[in-house]
Parts: sequence; C-alpha cells; structure tokens
Amino acid sequence: MMHIGNLPPNWHFLSKAVQKEGAIAVGVSASNLIPDWIKERFMSWVSSPHSGNLHYLKKNIDVRLNPRLEGILKDSQAVVSIAFPYGKPMALPPIWNYVATHARGRDYHNTLRNKLTRIATQIASVYPGLKWRVFVDSGPVMERTWAVLSELGVIGRNGMIIVPGYGVKVLLGEIFISNAPLDRVAFSTIPREPFSLCDASCRRCQRACPTGALSEDGLVDAGKCLSCLTVERRTYTIPENIRLHLDKFFGCDRCIDACPHNRAQFSILEPPAIANIANSLEEFVYAPAESLQQLLAGTCLYRTGAVQLQQQAQFLLDNSSYRCLGYNSDGKEVK
Ligand code: SF4
Ligand code: SF4
Repeated sequence: MMHIGNLPPNWHFLSKAVQKEGAIAVGVSASNLIPDWIKERFMSWVSSPHSGNLHYLKKNIDVRLNPRLEGILKDSQAVVSIAFPYGKPMALPPIWNYVATHARGRDYHNTLRNKLTRIATQIASVYPGLKWRVFVDSGPVMERTWAVLSELGVIGRNGMIIVPGYGVKVLLGEIFISNAPLDRVAFSTIPREPFSLCDASCRRCQRACPTGALSEDGLVDAGKCLSCLTVERRTYTIPENIRLHLDKFFGCDRCIDACPHNRAQFSILEPPAIANIANSLEEFVYAPAESLQQLLAGTCLYRTGAVQLQQQAQFLLDNSSYRCLGYNSDGKEVK
C-alpha cells in the first residue's frame, strides 16, 4: 500500500506514477511553507558545534530556507516529496557488510534521479509548460522538512523520517515545480509534531547509538555520529574514543535498524557494476588506492574516496571489538 501524503485533489495520477517507480510515499507542499520554528531549530543546530564537519550546510542558507529564490527553482510553487524504500538488503559479496545498507550497490543518487526525472516528465505531460528540477540529497534542500510538510511522515527521535507502515528505511527525493495549476490548493501548514509516531517510552534508537550522538530532541551531534564522520570527506582523523565504535567503513545503521516501525520488505537499490571490490577487509585496506577508486566508480563510496575509506577500514582492523559485532575480518557472519 502506498502512503499518500498531502495531494492536490486532481493530482491522484501522481500516486500511480510514483508507485510504478517503486516509491512508497508521495506528497506535495507549497515551497514557501517552512514554519518559523523549523527555521529556528535548523539555525540553532547549524550554528552550534553539533553540526560538526557538515560545513556545506552553512552555505546557501537563504536558499535552503526559501527555495523560491534563484538557486533551486526560481519562483517555484511547490515541492513534490517522494520516499523510496531500501529495507531489503541485496545479496552482495561480504565486504559490503561494512557499508551502510542504503549505500550498497549502485549509487542511489543516480537511480533516484532517473526515477524522479521520469515522474517529473509525466507531471509535465499532464500540465504542459510545467518547470521542474529534481534533487536527491543534493543542493541546499531541507529534504526531511519537505517530506514532513508534504505529510509523508514524521521525524523520529533518531532524526529520520518515519513513514507510517514502512518505517525509517527510506530514501527521499524532491521535484520542485512551477507553472502548475496549484493556486487553489490548500496546503497543510502545520507539520505533524516530531516524535508523534514514537512511543513515549521508546528510546531504542538512542540506546543503539554507541557514541551518544542522538539527543532527546532528535538532533544529531555530527561530531559524534559515525555516519557523518565516515561518509563526508574529512581532513582530520576521527577521535579514538569514537572510532572504537566503528562497525562499518562507510556509514552506520544502528539507530535505523533499531526502530520498531521498520516494515520495508523491498528495495529500489540496484547491484553495482562491480560487486567484488575486495575479498576481505585486509585486501580492501592494502589495495592500491587508484585501482580501488576505479572499482568504486558508480557507487556512493566513490565520492568519499578510496584513501579515506581505506583509513576507516584500517580503524576496523585495529578495533578488536569489531569481531564481537558478529562478523569476522572477511565480513562474513560468525555463527
Ligand atoms: S548513525 Fe550511528 S553514530 Fe550516528 S546517530 Fe545513528 S547510531 Fe549514532
Ligand atoms: S526507535 Fe523508537 S524513539 Fe527511535 S525513532 Fe524509532 S520509534 Fe522513535
């Protein structure tokens, strides 16, 4: 079953179009609707030490908070938010167990961009003259905020969007549009309260986080978050007290896996062009960086780069604790 968020009355063709592309939720919000409290929450977090190494979030703040400006889609009217599931891991060689689930296989940015482009083209076939631009975890776009405003779901205490009936294992994409006949549409203006889908006593995600990166208000301390520290390009080493908790050389799934809302039984992720990037963690660490980088082409790992990933994989080898997490050094599950 699709989860339908806020959809204009004559836009129900959209749910069929997104379903055909494997999406599980869709909704539309006006592009000028970011409420003040969300802006204030973002500004206070981004100017605090908790934004860590995510320096790109400090750029283009005016456009991020007002996508009608030049930079996203000038005079955009609305944002179509779409959620795609990645819950079911695909069968890949064991080395991929050291990569966060959403980043396994082909780079999802490319997969989703193609899907969003086909969906946007279909909207434009219904409304000729439509202007549109698609985003997948790119550009100054507050994707979780738009997903909430489009009524795809609610922010959970792990900072992720919980889509009712599917959970938090979703990837988000946006289509900004203008020149569409949306003038008379009533958009929802009050987003659902954060955590309203979290049981009052549930703290599973916080307990699953080994570094204490999740605060009670659902904001992430990026300086402590293994995902932020291992996925983004960095110029400094990860503090030892943090890297001792690494169980992957790219990303971290713990606060996501912990959520009892997860139900997703399918995935839109696709196999990579080259799946066998290394036979073991040791082979990954000691491979010539240039050849490894070529093997990573077309995956999410490419942008982070072989050199950084090899360093992070070396941290895993250094951690005797990683053996306790259920995998041997080849990434195979220890029975
Ligand atoms: S991704 Fe990992 S380190 Fe980051 S908040 Fe979640 S559990 Fe903590
Ligand atoms: S684990 Fe519990 S508290 Fe955390 S996001 Fe899921 S439901 Fe909410």
